[in-house]
Amino acid sequence: MSQLAGKIGIVFGVANKRSIAWAIAQAWHRAGAQLAFTYQGERLKENVEELVAAFGPDTLLLPCDVTRDEDIARVFAEVGAKFGKLHLLLHSVAFAPKDALEGAFLNTSREAFRVAHDVSAYSLIALARAAAPLMTEGGSIVAMTYYGSEKVVPHYNVMGVAKAALESSTRYLAYDLGPRKIRVNCISAGPVNTLAARGIAGFMEMLKHYEAHSPLKRNVLPDELGATGTFLASDGAAAITGQVLYVDCGYQIMGM
Ligand code: NAP
Repeated sequence: MSQLAGKIGIVFGVANKRSIAWAIAQAWHRAGAQLAFTYQGERLKENVEELVAAFGPDTLLLPCDVTRDEDIARVFAEVGAKFGKLHLLLHSVAFAPKDALEGAFLNTSREAFRVAHDVSAYSLIALARAAAPLMTEGGSIVAMTYYGSEKVVPHYNVMGVAKAALESSTRYLAYDLGPRKIRVNCISAGPVNTLAARGIAGFMEMLKHYEAHSPLKRNVLPDELGATGTFLASDGAAAITGQVLYVDCGYQIMGM
């Protein structure tokens, strides 16, 4: 398969081999894309370095805390210097303080609200703005979201509100960037057992709940998110922008 041959992409959010970003990056790579990666801090550097080495020794790997404008500017300057252009961007980054993901939403602090929105939603706007000048041949920006944006999922709390902001930002960005042939979409994934997910109180029950109640009676597989990511990045999705695509074994359609 070489659906993405000749495409250059950048991936934000690989922490380890369980990361959704890693599943989508592998699928993009298999489809022929050449990729650059970022990692948040020194703590993750070695781990991510080891993973991306599989894509060749000269794979671009850069530090980037998405709350820091100077990091974002440096990343896109380096991508511009190395490739001169960009087609694909994966935003697979989210964070909220742990105490905001347990107990009552009512107790969300101003600081937890600010941090969750800065890391998980504003960052999409900042990354899209920095990427757009390099997407001179058009592009596809894909962000990861979750159903807790539209319905109450106990413990998801402020992250649900941040995902609502992310999804709405996707629509406004799609409008702004459409004339430049840059598409912006979200994948709304069912629960996947990753580092970030395990920070949500009761996450293991969530996996069981989806298995019992989704029409397909199972949880989504990382490879299936990779396949959807490849579709959204490809010309097959050339007329799709501003959308939230549910890849959740059908859970979102259920009323009871
Ligand atoms: P993950 O492997 O822990 O990935 C989350 C990534 O966000 C990590 O690489 C993390 O780095 C990064 N990050 C956090 N703060 C950052 C910052 N300030 N700057 C740069 N990167 C930062 O977990 P995941 O489940 O794959 O999450 C990826 C995306 O999928 C998230 O948007 C998540 O909300 C979404 N999603 C997940 C599920 C699920 O069930 N797993 C379902 C639907 C949607 P650190 O480890 O250094 O913090």
